[in-house]
Amino acid sequence: MSSIPAFELSQQYKLIGDEMGEAVLAILASGRYIGGSAVTGFEQQFAQYMGTAECISCNSGTDALYLALRALGIGSGDEVITSAFTFFATAETISAVGAIPVFVDIEPDSFNLDLAKLEAAITERTKAIIPVHLFGHPVNMTQLMAIAEAHRLWVIEDCAQATGATWAGAKVGSIGQVGCFSFYPTKNLGACGDAGAITTNDPELAAKLRKLRDHGQTQRYVYEEIGINSRLDAIQAMVLQIKLRHLDEWNANRQAIAARYHDLLAPLPNLIRPKPSEGHVWNQYTIRVLSPTEASDGSYREQVRQWLQQQGVGTAVYYPIPLHRQPVYQSLGYAPGTLPVTEQVAHEVISLPMFPELTTAQQEQVVYALKEVLVA
Ligand SMILES: *Cc1c(COP(=O)(O)O)cnc(C)c1O
Repeated sequence: MSSIPAFELSQQYKLIGDEMGEAVLAILASGRYIGGSAVTGFEQQFAQYMGTAECISCNSGTDALYLALRALGIGSGDEVITSAFTFFATAETISAVGAIPVFVDIEPDSFNLDLAKLEAAITERTKAIIPVHLFGHPVNMTQLMAIAEAHRLWVIEDCAQATGATWAGAKVGSIGQVGCFSFYPTKNLGACGDAGAITTNDPELAAKLRKLRDHGQTQRYVYEEIGINSRLDAIQAMVLQIKLRHLDEWNANRQAIAARYHDLLAPLPNLIRPKPSEGHVWNQYTIRVLSPTEASDGSYREQVRQWLQQQGVGTAVYYPIPLHRQPVYQSLGYAPGTLPVTEQVAHEVISLPMFPELTTAQQEQVVYALKEVLVA
């Protein structure tokens, strides 16, 4: 029995390693490491893929969120509604611009914002909502946009885990005012280092974003406001151009793998499968394991993970500590018990191996190991 990692890139490298190597060497030989046609080419190709008028590349998904908030004029005293069951950057960037994250609870099966609880969190200080398409699961954007429009709120989509996902036929990241993407290596479209992008259909917003990512510069050495330096490297842009051509096929593989997990896991007790959805791109396949005892402190989940590890099955926990329970937000006065679903699932989630090249035999090994521990 061979071991199965939670994630791996080696087979992707076998497929396109030579092509990437040549492209990277060509950049090295060109001496053009910042900007140039590699970067503008990727921006054009990604905008076309997304069906948006504009794509503004940047250094990371975190920068994409920060720049989007800045470009929309969100700052001191403003409130931004989002989920506490996400990667830290989603809330961190809200705080970094001086605004206040307001956390709304999630749905227990999709792990996305519970839209039925959204309106109760809106105040006169609310400026924006950041829906996170967590694990690749598209948020119900029809419902979310209706709420946002009724209250005149901006919508910044956190698409870091959902490149290629769709809602009602439209790519996520093309529905709100801005879409923010991460190309961190483990995302559905991953670079060979840090990289990110922002998409929008608003040309004025795009111009503002381009200025802010370049120190607030309008003409050479003339600065109109305080920006940051957030560039996509030419090398990363070439890697992304090559990988973008494979993205739909890789996402289709992820969908087939998720469907197979869904069937294989159906008979297992004390386990809740993630809710499937049209347009879901499965950056993670995340189950919940239910403790047979009263304990709900995550210790049972750790026992299950340890067993899986012994059976050669790599797993991950996204996310063990909800954002309102992080030390920094605790110290800012965020209280426990306010987001019961988020707090509950944080003790139960396990992300199973998921990458486009995972085989049926490997999935069967994962499920067999789970079956032994869950019925034991
Ligand atoms: C990865 C991720 C980010 C941040 O992206 P980086 O490129 O790592 O800065 C933001 N939000 C979510 C939901 C993410 O998963």
